Amino acid sequence: MAYSAPRGTVDIINQAPKWQQLEQLLRTVCAYYNVSEMRTPIFEHTELFNRAVGDTTDVVSKEMYTFQDKKGRSITLRPEGTAGVARSFVENKLFANPEKLQKYYYMGPMFRYERPQNGRQRQFHQFGVEMLGVESPYIDVECMVMAVSIVESLGLKDVKLHINSLGDEESREAYREALKEHFKPALKDLCYDCNQRFEKNPLRILDCKVDRAHESMKDAPKTIDYLSESAKAHFDKVCSLLDDLEIEYVLDVNLVRGLDYYSHTVFEVISDDKKLGTGSTVGGGGRYSSLISELGGPEVTGVGFAFGMERLLIAAGDGLNEEEGLDVYVMPLGDEARDLSVQIVTMLRANGFSCDMDYCERGLKGQFKSADRFDAHFSMIIGEEEVKNEVVNMKCNHSKEQTVVKLENIVSFIDEHYGEGDHHE
Ligand code: AMP
Repeated sequence: MAYSAPRGTVDIINQAPKWQQLEQLLRTVCAYYNVSEMRTPIFEHTELFNRAVGDTTDVVSKEMYTFQDKKGRSITLRPEGTAGVARSFVENKLFANPEKLQKYYYMGPMFRYERPQNGRQRQFHQFGVEMLGVESPYIDVECMVMAVSIVESLGLKDVKLHINSLGDEESREAYREALKEHFKPALKDLCYDCNQRFEKNPLRILDCKVDRAHESMKDAPKTIDYLSESAKAHFDKVCSLLDDLEIEYVLDVNLVRGLDYYSHTVFEVISDDKKLGTGSTVGGGGRYSSLISELGGPEVTGVGFAFGMERLLIAAGDGLNEEEGLDVYVMPLGDEARDLSVQIVTMLRANGFSCDMDYCERGLKGQFKSADRFDAHFSMIIGEEEVKNEVVNMKCNHSKEQTVVKLENIVSFIDEHYGEGDHHE
């Protein structure tokens, strides 16, 4: 039987160095913003996502990988990262920390049973940031600035920040009523799911993929017209802070996001860069005001965003460099030379150099090809003569110079001819 990876999954092999660099860049940006890492489980109780993300959303109702464990508990592979962070924030009482504002980031695999297509996988990766504990428009803006600066630092062109406000509980209630009134006459033409949504959560009718083109969608009420006074004040402050920072944004009154926990500010980072295709959403986020209390925590709120890392990688294109080469490739000729080489690579690695050697008992030609493929700075050739004389032959693959070096001088030779800090520490 031939095995293949499950549909919608990929093996990361040649691209692994790029992933590492992307991850490193994201960690560095997080350090600039004083955001610490949080690692939550890859699976959680299904109930968490039903509650947090919302059971009328597509993610929960159609796309979750849910199974029963051996004790009959319902478990779900996480489809997104916010629910886990919020659960942990409550469970570990992070809200009681003397530092009221808690900033966390996560990155890792997420799972959604979607139709695999260009840019959509069933196992994909997200990088996300959550800033919890304080309801202030300044933090909404810090999240947005961070999100935009990440995609710009990856070299993505034509980046647009789309923003909207869903308002607070009072605004959402008024909006809900307006949506019901609006969609009621059209219900008989709308799909089964929309009829369900109408009862449970009419906001979700707006992101229906089946009824997207229906007449009633075009003139549906907009959240922005139903904001309470305090929700409007929050959003006005967000906009004026963005203006002050000269961050361009588009007020997108149709933006509602596909997850239920959002309230107040929602945003998406959209790019027209041809690497991704016009109007591609790289990521998005927003504020969630009742998620923490719904999970049993106090009345505190959070704001965050998540990026699809596969999309960030495409966005980065050639902006992330390939892996650095080896410091030394050791090339023994004969059994004794091979024994000596094992000693040398062990010593070199202990001294902080990256190196490898030939174990395949090949001739010089094959070994030089490997040195080339591994982009080795030095090739170290060891034949019978060298073993006898307790020396090695060091060839710099850049200058092509060859030098005979005594065994005890190998490290000092590399240090001298490489330059401090040049090799992999
Ligand atoms: P969401 O959590 O749905 O707001 O998605 C945030 C980002 O994650 C999206 O903008 C995409 O970049 C990425 N994303 C979501 N679903 C997938 C998927 N199935 N495959 C690849 N990337 C995805």
